[in-house]
Amino acid sequence: MYLLIFGPPGAGKGTQSVLIAERLGIKHMSTGDVLRQAVIDGSELGLKAKEIIESGSLVSDDVMIGIIYEALKNNGMKKGFILDGFPRTIKQAAALDVLLSELGYPPIKVINIVVPEVELIKRMLGRGRNDDSEETVRHRLNIFKEQTKPILEHYSKKSKVLNIEGVGSITEINNKIIDILSSKVP
Ligand code: AMP
Repeated sequence: MYLLIFGPPGAGKGTQSVLIAERLGIKHMSTGDVLRQAVIDGSELGLKAKEIIESGSLVSDDVMIGIIYEALKNNGMKKGFILDGFPRTIKQAAALDVLLSELGYPPIKVINIVVPEVELIKRMLGRGRNDDSEETVRHRLNIFKEQTKPILEHYSKKSKVLNIEGVGSITEINNKIIDILSSKVP
């Protein structure tokens, strides 16, 4: 299975992706995790990304497309993957289309996690990541609405988009996702 998990910051994409990857035996590719690790390692990428992540803005499209290209070339991804945190702009989505077809991947399915904004703010302020201050959280939600949400339209035209209500316990939401992925209904 070749999946993309989509949704606003705080929707639980990371948590759900890890569970889905384990359950389906596919690779979890989180661009946020790659960037956070680069910051810890103090690599060139990490030095570039640190302030951007902390402010809640987006790292440049060219840098992010390069990261995804390297990941998709990796053989470990061939047997299936779930992309988490990418694409976040229309430019990234267009680049992903090209890369997937160039590298011979089959069409992807999009899992769209829908959560009301008040719930997102509550969750993010409660999780204690250092890019989760109130100001940063609002900034990230605005960026999502302006730059990331429009991608959904891009996918609704050409891919299968599975809408999941992301409110409830982690297990409940995970079961809903697994059910819809294994459903024979088109
Ligand atoms: P996440 O863990 O997905 O919430 O990502 C944390 C932060 O990493 C984001 O707020 C961005 O600053 C940066 N980031 C992650 N993925 C991307 C991406 N695809 N494009 C631009 N910035 C990204």
